Amino acid sequence: MSATLVILNANIKTMNTKQPTAQAVAVCNNMILKVGTNRQIQPLISKDTQVLDLEGKTVLPGLIDTHIHVADYGRCLMWLDLTPVASLAELKQQIQKKAKVTPKGNWIIGQGWNETRFKEKRMPRISDLDGAAPNHPVILYREAAMICAVNSLALKTAGVTQKTHAPQDGTIDRDPKTGKLLGIFRDAATSLIWQAVPEPNEATLLEATAYAAQKITTAGITSVAWLVISEAELPIIKKLYLQRRLPFRVNVLVPEALLEKTTDFPRDNFLRICGAFIIADGYLDSKEAALTKPYSDDPKNCGKMLLTPQQLTTAVGRAVAFGVQPVIHAMGDKAINAVLTAIEQTPKRQIRFRIEQAAVLNKPLIARLKKQNIVVSIQPKVIATEFAVWSADQRLGNRAQLLHPLKTLLDSGVAVAAGSDCPMEPLSVLLGMQELVLRPNDPKQRLSIDEAIALYTLNAAYCLGEEALRGSIEKDKLADFTVLSKDPQTVGPDNIKDVPVEYVVVDGKVLRSN
Ligand SMILES: [Zn+2]
Repeated sequence: MSATLVILNANIKTMNTKQPTAQAVAVCNNMILKVGTNRQIQPLISKDTQVLDLEGKTVLPGLIDTHIHVADYGRCLMWLDLTPVASLAELKQQIQKKAKVTPKGNWIIGQGWNETRFKEKRMPRISDLDGAAPNHPVILYREAAMICAVNSLALKTAGVTQKTHAPQDGTIDRDPKTGKLLGIFRDAATSLIWQAVPEPNEATLLEATAYAAQKITTAGITSVAWLVISEAELPIIKKLYLQRRLPFRVNVLVPEALLEKTTDFPRDNFLRICGAFIIADGYLDSKEAALTKPYSDDPKNCGKMLLTPQQLTTAVGRAVAFGVQPVIHAMGDKAINAVLTAIEQTPKRQIRFRIEQAAVLNKPLIARLKKQNIVVSIQPKVIATEFAVWSADQRLGNRAQLLHPLKTLLDSGVAVAAGSDCPMEPLSVLLGMQELVLRPNDPKQRLSIDEAIALYTLNAAYCLGEEALRGSIEKDKLADFTVLSKDPQTVGPDNIKDVPVEYVVVDGKVLRSN
């Protein structure tokens, strides 16, 4: 049999323990035919074979992002990116430019500004934004904080006046002398404006999502677990699939309440309904993750469960009855215990269970995770961002010893898989790998680069219940590869995030990156 695609002279990390490295691989249509040395693979080349001589570049199994909000990412890509803006004058220019191509009265939305990067070292004022776009409501989110700057038309459209009071957990900035609004809204007060911004229509969201899909492929990702936030995304996924505009494999995770809306979804190697999202508790940063003992820096607060044990068991049972994977957000030890109890009580089944975060662990919980074969799904950049903001030791005391204990989990035989949580965090898988290898706040839990790669390949495939078809480069698996210009192993841990993606191969087809 001859190959349709052959890759030669490559540094192939197969993630197959029986044959960890290789030099060449042959593909027939969409499946891997043979993995080996150049000499072993060359005889499979015929006149119709596409040959890719990689000159020593690194090939990984196609990267899998197990937690990404694709439509939301598309929505964010429509916004003005103000991250590179270095002065208020430049900010105004950007808005003027956007106003020229935006119909009058439509919102201009931006994100990423930071006054510390502005030459003027101050936040934008209403007058700055009014001058740039008098006929468009403008809302511009600051980087890394719930703060937005708005113009007069945004205030008017949202019905906000001098007399409007800020909600309990928010602030409206005013001139200390005159009491006039400055156009800066903080925390919960940002929603006073945001509630007036209309949802994009289906056609707009579809195009934005298609654009996001291209960006995701370019980033080297061949397969995603797409977390659906709103029902409006479902027809978009279906349309993009039918239009063949989803270049990667899509595993859809829907909120548990939307399961009934997915019964008519197509199902093949490119699209399937994979899981039902269930939320058991909140996040540690807002102290809403449910703990068995109080927060060390808040002795009366244990966080809270968002579902009763009965509701949890019902939700898990419903997902299993639908034949999809329950994907349960549980961050605190109390929530993890409740989820484990619900899973342990669910009758025998073939479905792989998955907990998102599973942050605050202890030895007995880890043993139960292992026993039930539950996959822990994490987002490395989310972990890094959290620790940059608050101290784990102060918040959790001794419990910080086993907070996101990824190395301990792997050593205990628990499968851990990783995703980006894009657009809340950057898209890059390589950045995620770098965070896993560095773990600056918890050196004991650092992973090797091979372990970090496994979280996005072999373990990610296992997480989605698809390890028989993807996750490693071996005969009879799907031909999905990510080609990097350098080996992440040799560039040094601080430079992993900068390794360029050269090619993406999905289903045996070579897509050039960038
Ligand atoms: Zn998310």
